[in-house]
Amino acid sequence: MNCPTCRQPMLVLELEEIEIDYCSACRGMWLDAGELELLLGENAQALDLLRSFRAAETGEQKRKCPICLKNMDKVHVGVPGQSQELIDRCPKYHGLWFDGGELQRILQKAHFDDNDKVKRLLGDLFFTNKVI
Ligand SMILES: [Zn+2]
Ligand SMILES: [Zn+2]
Repeated sequence: MNCPTCRQPMLVLELEEIEIDYCSACRGMWLDAGELELLLGENAQALDLLRSFRAAETGEQKRKCPICLKNMDKVHVGVPGQSQELIDRCPKYHGLWFDGGELQRILQKAHFDDNDKVKRLLGDLFFTNKVI
């Protein structure tokens, strides 16, 4: 699968049952539908974050879904009362695109960085960045 931003082939990072496509050029990340839920786990905190998705109107350039190549929608993510990140979501719900650092910021702001899976993901990314 190629990066929707720079069109380079992405690396696949595996974390238990979750496969994350990662672009080493722009550090963006693609999560297939349902993978964010798997990463966050089932708890009230995860539900708050998943329910925070709101369609956004913005002039930011649209990106194409790496699966169906349709223009993705811009979506605000972030628990109420905190600053939000603008991410891209496939209109057919194939998945979510996070620009470099966006997923990390979302997880840190929502205090998921003490969740084991999230910690390992962030650790893997750090390791990957160092190797490249
Ligand atoms: Zn890229
Ligand atoms: Zn799609």
